[in-house]
Amino acid sequence: MPLRYLIIGGGVAGTTAAETIRKNDPVGEITIVSDEPHRLYSRIMISKPHYFLGKVPAEHIWLKKESWYGEQKISLMAGKRAVRLDPDGKKVVLDDGTELGYDRLLLALGVCARRWKIPGADRKGVYYVRTLDDFRQYQPASKVARQGVVVGGGAIGFEMCEMMSLSGLETTLIIREGHYWDPVLDQTAGQMVESALENHGVRVIRGQYVTEALGDGSLTGVRTENGTEVPCRMAAVGIGGFCPHVLAEEAGIAVNWGIRTDGKMGTNRPDIWAAGDAAEYDDPIFGEPTVFGSWSNAQNHGRVAGINMSGGDETYSRVTFYAVSGFGLNIAFVGKVAPLPDRTFVSRGNPEVGYGRLVLKGNRLVGAQLINRTPEVSAITRLIETRKDISGHLDQLADAGFDLKRLP
Ligand SMILES: Cc1cc2nc3c(=O)[nH]c(=O)nc-3n(C[C@H](O)[C@H](O)[C@H](O)COP(=O)(O)OP(=O)(O)OC[C@H]3O[C@@H](n4cnc5c(N)ncnc54)[C@H](O)[C@@H]3O)c2cc1C
Repeated sequence: MPLRYLIIGGGVAGTTAAETIRKNDPVGEITIVSDEPHRLYSRIMISKPHYFLGKVPAEHIWLKKESWYGEQKISLMAGKRAVRLDPDGKKVVLDDGTELGYDRLLLALGVCARRWKIPGADRKGVYYVRTLDDFRQYQPASKVARQGVVVGGGAIGFEMCEMMSLSGLETTLIIREGHYWDPVLDQTAGQMVESALENHGVRVIRGQYVTEALGDGSLTGVRTENGTEVPCRMAAVGIGGFCPHVLAEEAGIAVNWGIRTDGKMGTNRPDIWAAGDAAEYDDPIFGEPTVFGSWSNAQNHGRVAGINMSGGDETYSRVTFYAVSGFGLNIAFVGKVAPLPDRTFVSRGNPEVGYGRLVLKGNRLVGAQLINRTPEVSAITRLIETRKDISGHLDQLADAGFDLKRLP
């Protein structure tokens, strides 16, 4: 009997898993269930200015042709949501009541955008930036809005500022922290980002929560906790995401920050794997639980899960990487950058030549934040991977002119 593979989530993790399974198992039945009504598209592009401004053809968003699913004998059930999982009976129930049995199941659920819980949050003009359908609402709105507000620091906030500003909107960024991307970025790096924004005409309001979205039906402005009112016709809310793991939790699957997996993307329940933004995995390089939202991470999770689901044996191991660019800055994060209590930091460079902060755990390099120092990414990745004791090289790490490739 052919095996029945069921994949919940049709993003890059789920689709890569399906593609990998098909390579290893030509006869298995593969079904992808996705609550979005689309085939695989580039989620990345919906916040990139060249796509937003129509500089590339709209159809470049699609990463698979419609015919691909048929050719691969992969059944895509788009616009259907999995609402219940029964691991003992090996079945999943969809929102229309359909029951799907499986032999092997993958949860590739991604993350959901955290919603505003303030008065006026449901006004027309308040947008989230996660799906193609979100994009199809905020992109046309930006053409007539004239004034826009971005709420929240981080990668999406940065990109939304650039998109609004390039669209000619008078743009205001509101962050609750004292500086941009605090505490991931230190003050020097945060101020570099803020200066770049301000030099391009973006107004930055720091240390303020938005307490109300104003207007009568449609958005006319936002009010912050100290009473500041900022007029706007559109607000892009980028206040973080959360993993929609209720489905897993209710089925007795271990969940922490994400759905817990071992190094092979397997969960604590037999025949159930998890991958992508929704999966928490033990980083094999440092043995720390990690949840990381990036395209390449999700793609590789999907590949490893697909291999293991179809009888192979592979462990996920990779130094994480995320980069965002705009306003003349390239901001890159390599490895573990969270400022945990057991970390120490070495600063490198300055805003004129490019600034970085290297993150150490004990004697080892575990991560780095780099602004306009992108050429150092590969040397830093190697130093993290090799897990060498670098305590004898702290002066060189701090010397912005020293070529990190020369470290042993
Ligand atoms: C605007 C934006 C810009 C980004 N830019 C970058 C970038 O420049 N570089 C980078 O590396 N990363 C970027 N990312 C992150 C990257 O897109 C994600 O890490 C990646 O898409 C995660 O893939 P995934 O398959 O794990 O999840 P997703 O792509 O989120 O796919 C999961 C899918 O599962 C669906 N789903 C969830 N629950 C259910 C259910 N119960 N039933 C059915 N379907 C369900 C979801 O709706 C979604 O369609 C960006 C993300 C966003 C939102």
